[in-house]
Amino acid sequence: MDLILFGPPGAGKGTQAQRLLATYGTPQISTGDILRQAVKEGTRLGDQARPLMEAGQLVPDSLVIGIVEERLRRPDCRPGFVLDGFPRTVAQARALETMLGSLGRRIDRVLSLEVPLEVVVRRLSGRRSCPADGRVYHLTEAPPRNPGRCDACGTALVQRPDDAEEVVRARQTTYRRDTEPVKAFYAAQGLLREVDGQGSPDEVFERLRAVLG
Ligand code: AMP
Repeated sequence: MDLILFGPPGAGKGTQAQRLLATYGTPQISTGDILRQAVKEGTRLGDQARPLMEAGQLVPDSLVIGIVEERLRRPDCRPGFVLDGFPRTVAQARALETMLGSLGRRIDRVLSLEVPLEVVVRRLSGRRSCPADGRVYHLTEAPPRNPGRCDACGTALVQRPDDAEEVVRARQTTYRRDTEPVKAFYAAQGLLREVDGQGSPDEVFERLRAVLG
């Protein structure tokens, strides 16, 4: 299964990609995670991406397309993959079509997580993550066992810099302007499936499974 998880920041794409990985073994390709890692490591890519990410803007298409192209060629993607946070522009969607075509593949489904704006803002403002292993928590909806500490490794949890309120607003604006048109692109191809993204991660995952059949 070659899948895209689609939706605004805070829709739950990362959480659901993790569950798809656990159930179907499809690796999660998160351009946001790859970029955050590059920022942490201080690579050239990271230096280019950091100011844009901190401002809630998109990183140039050419950079993210290169990242995905390289990632899709790795052997673990052979049986399938779940794209999380890519494509975010119609140009990226077209480039994806071309690169998959050259591998003799195509997207099977685009699962769009539908969540009202006030819910995504609440989710993002309460989101905390572990800088060591990337596990994600929520202050009230998915709290760690020990407040402020990762369940798995005990590291102090942090808030992503781009989850600060003013950056969240900028990300939503970017989403509506640049990313929402991608939905129409896939709807026109008959690939889009809208899934209610409200409720617990388990409830949402059951809906995704039902759509995947
Ligand atoms: P995410 O973790 O998916 O919310 O991504 C965090 C940030 O990384 C975004 O706000 C963008 O600045 C950047 N980013 C991630 N994926 C993409 C993409 N496909 N195209 C452009 N920028 C991206």
